[in-house]
Amino acid sequence: MEFCVECGTRLKTVKNQANNQTVMMLTCSKCGQKKPDLEIYPKLNNKIIKHNPKQFVAIIGREEQEFTTLPTIRVDCPRCNNNIANVWQVQTRGSDESSTQFLRCTQCNFTYREYT
Ligand SMILES: [Zn+2]
Ligand SMILES: [Zn+2]
Repeated sequence: MEFCVECGTRLKTVKNQANNQTVMMLTCSKCGQKKPDLEIYPKLNNKIIKHNPKQFVAIIGREEQEFTTLPTIRVDCPRCNNNIANVWQVQTRGSDESSTQFLRCTQCNFTYREYT
């Protein structure tokens, strides 16, 4: 259940037509505020985690933010013909070994590990 950020009225789920698609929108009956119903359509990246879509959306949002601050390097993507990828390192858990480098294609978002 969600409430209007403007007036605090409980939002109702209403069908809307947008770009030839039917989209469920949470709509305030008092002041007309609308927002997409993410609980029904956690549509980001076509991946749907059924048990907790809210948390899923929050995680994606944070990752997207972090990716924008990541450095990019020139590397050929295995999936498409792009040659720029975000790069970051993750320390392997419980070991003193060097960290693993991950790459994410800036075009198709394919994420992979770089083996050195
Ligand atoms: Zn309202
Ligand atoms: Zn790619």
